[in-house]
Amino acid sequence: MTPGCSKRKCKNHAIIHQKYSGLHFCEYHFVEDVERKVKKEMRKQLMVERGDKIAVALSGGKDSSALLYMLKKIFHNRNDLEFFAIAADEGINGFRSLTIKNAEKVANELEVKLFIFSFEKEFGFTLDEIASKGFEQAPCTFCGVLRRKILDRKAKELGATKVVTGHNMDDEVQTILINYIRGDVERLRRLRGRREEFVPRIKPLRAVPEKEVALYALAAGIPIITTHCPYASLSFRFTVKKMLNECEMKHPGTKYSLLRGYERLSGFLPTAQPGKKLLRCTRCGEASASRICKACEIVERMN
Ligand code: SF4
Ligand code: ZN
Repeated sequence: MTPGCSKRKCKNHAIIHQKYSGLHFCEYHFVEDVERKVKKEMRKQLMVERGDKIAVALSGGKDSSALLYMLKKIFHNRNDLEFFAIAADEGINGFRSLTIKNAEKVANELEVKLFIFSFEKEFGFTLDEIASKGFEQAPCTFCGVLRRKILDRKAKELGATKVVTGHNMDDEVQTILINYIRGDVERLRRLRGRREEFVPRIKPLRAVPEKEVALYALAAGIPIITTHCPYASLSFRFTVKKMLNECEMKHPGTKYSLLRGYERLSGFLPTAQPGKKLLRCTRCGEASASRICKACEIVERMN
C-alpha cells in the first residue's frame, strides 16, 4: 500500500518519501515544499528588489526549465519585475541543439524572451573543437569557464540586475566536495557570494535535491529531455557525483549535511581580501582575478 502524505489532515497518497527528512508528500504538498524551499533560499541569498531585471540562465535541461517555471509562478503578480533568459550554445554535436530547442519551447510557453549566444560566435570555436585538441583537462573545465563568461558578460550588457541559475543541491554539494578535495579555500569562499563587479547571482534551487527538481518538473508538466552531454562522464565532477550518490543511498542525509556543514564552516572562511585591487584582463578588459582572464587564456590556447 502506498503511504499517505505526512501533512496534517491530508488524505492524499504520497508520491515521494524524503528519506533525509523522514516525510512523505502527496503531489500537492511536495510542490508546496519545493516552492517553500526556493522562496526561503532566495530570501537567504539575496532579496529580489523592486524593478529588478532578472536574467535566468536557461540551458533547456530540467533544472533551469523548472526554475524558470517556478519563478514565473512565484512572482506572477510582481509586474515590476522583468524576466528574460540567456542560453549558451557550446557547440556540442547531438546534444546542445536538442536542449536549446527545449529551451526555446519552455521560454515560449512561459512568454519569456530568450537570448542565445554561441561559443563559436563569441570565441571563434565550438566545445567540440576544444575537445578534439586532446588537452589534458576535461572539456567541462573549458566549458564552465566560457559559459560563465558568456553569462556574466551578456547579463551585464542586457542590463540585468540579478542573474539566476538552476544549480540544485547536488550540484552545490559536488562543488563543495570538489573544493574540499582540492583544498581550494578561495573557491570555497567565492561560493558564498560573487565579487562586486559582476551582476549578483542567486541559486534558488540550492536546497532542493536533483531528484526532487526532476519530480517537480514532471509534476508541473514541464517539457524535459533526457539526453546527456557526451563529455559529462570525463569530468572529476562525475566521479564525485557517483561517490555522493552512493553515500546518499547508503546513508540518507549525506548531501544535506554536507551542505549544512559547509554553511557552518563558511562563517570562518576569510572574506575577500581587503585592499586587494581588482584586476582587469589585459585582453578583454573585463574583471579578472589575474592579468589574463581564464576565458582569454583558453582563446589564446586555441589560437
Ligand atoms: Fe559542458 Fe561538461 Fe556540462 Fe557538457 S557536461 S555541457 S561539457 S560542463
Ligand atoms: Zn579576458
